[in-house]
Amino acid sequence: MQDKGKEACIFCEELVDSDEVECPHCGKKPFSGMYLDPKTYETANQMEKDGDIKGAWKLLHEEYRQHTDVEYFDEETAGILHDYLEALYSRHQGLLLVEKIDLLLDGLQIGAYWGHYDDSLVEQAVEITQDAKRPDLELKVLENHRNNKQTLSKGYEFDSGNLDQRIQKLKNMLHSS
Ligand SMILES: [Zn+2]
Repeated sequence: MQDKGKEACIFCEELVDSDEVECPHCGKKPFSGMYLDPKTYETANQMEKDGDIKGAWKLLHEEYRQHTDVEYFDEETAGILHDYLEALYSRHQGLLLVEKIDLLLDGLQIGAYWGHYDDSLVEQAVEITQDAKRPDLELKVLENHRNNKQTLSKGYEFDSGNLDQRIQKLKNMLHSS
């Protein structure tokens, strides 16, 4: 009989036979990428070639969301999907502004949940919205940021006064235009 290798389930971290398709400990598919249709990248590439840029983004982004779900967090596959999304954005920046901001907001929300919040993503998102002259999107970013900060532990310091001021200013600006 051949000796079967064992690997840690990415969800519960118990050791599982490496040819197992269902973890006997937590009932999930135990290894990275097992929840992803292997044709996803190919399909997205084809959609992009056919000019359906938003469709390609939507397909990849939906998978990214599922692979970053708190219950089904598959870091490796999520990272690959994220790279695909970034590359797609870099080729079609003008078309994917709202989508790119959503992706940055996803990253922030995930960070807030897992306790490794990356403020530089906020700066990046704000810069993109300001360059694109989209105060509505900047407002969305800052409001999300404020919610995330409230999610984070109490000891986390931030200047909520400035943030509130800027959010109010953007609201006034949007309502008066
Ligand atoms: Zn498991």
